[in-house]
Amino acid sequence: MTRRRWVAPVAVLLALVGLAALALVGAGEKPSSSAPAGHETASGTTSPSAQRAGPTDAEFDAHVRALRDRLPEGFTLCVARPFVVLGDEDADTVRRRSDGTVRWAVELLRKDFFEKDPAEIIDIWLFRDKSSYTAHAAQLFGDTPDTPFGYYSARHKALVMNIRTGGGTLVHEIVHPFLRANFPACPSWFDEGLASLYEQSGERDGHIVGYTNWRLAGLQKAVRAGKALRFERLCGLTRDEFYGEGSGLHYAQARYLCYWLQQHGRLVKFYHAFVAAQKDDPTGYKTLVKVLGEDDMDAFQTRWQAWVLKLRYP
Ligand SMILES: [Zn+2]
Repeated sequence: MTRRRWVAPVAVLLALVGLAALALVGAGEKPSSSAPAGHETASGTTSPSAQRAGPTDAEFDAHVRALRDRLPEGFTLCVARPFVVLGDEDADTVRRRSDGTVRWAVELLRKDFFEKDPAEIIDIWLFRDKSSYTAHAAQLFGDTPDTPFGYYSARHKALVMNIRTGGGTLVHEIVHPFLRANFPACPSWFDEGLASLYEQSGERDGHIVGYTNWRLAGLQKAVRAGKALRFERLCGLTRDEFYGEGSGLHYAQARYLCYWLQQHGRLVKFYHAFVAAQKDDPTGYKTLVKVLGEDDMDAFQTRWQAWVLKLRYP
């Protein structure tokens, strides 16, 4: 969703935390965690961290220790590598979100899509309601959120969420740092298409799957009005175009193209083919045509639109 700018006082605070973290690197001692014992081994994230090119165990532990030292009153901290989850709901709820949503999504996303972890450690702040979200965004990060759900702050390396609005945005925002690490040149349509696919998600045969969601109604309206973009155009949108006028339709159309690929068993294949072909095909359109096995993309568009109109939510 929205990326926000930083303000100086927070940058200074973070720099201090960063220094503290550096000073602690190599100290070797594991921090205690409020997550269940043994969870890191169980999720298979301890030893493969080096291959995954994310932070080392020592760096991660130092980061967690520094965070604990400045944890605001009433907050629970849980480790869900490569993330740290912090929240001010009751401790059991924070743990449940950390294990049931964050760790779950990370494991399943890694399984199908992502070899590498994000290079940076990202803190996921889950504020229990609107007033906590607004107050802490200002207090901790100097931000005035322009979205009621949550946002990613690249400079603070933090996801800042109003968790009262539901866990969907949380999974959406988890996808972005993985895509940045594994597919830095990913165009906006696929970045947001894949992230928004998992806003409403569950598990099928051990794999993450997206379900229809609130973005469907707007898309169906646009399809009926003949306003859906040709796929070549959607894939070719620049970043500014994607997030500019008509962005609601761009998100929805990208999401339901990904949803189509998923429902036809071709999403994972498309992703890996796109990553492999990115130099020749930076927009993904040629790869899309290939994965669809389609020589008439207008015919595909007609079929896809008819399929979209039959989808239901809820
Ligand atoms: Zn997004």
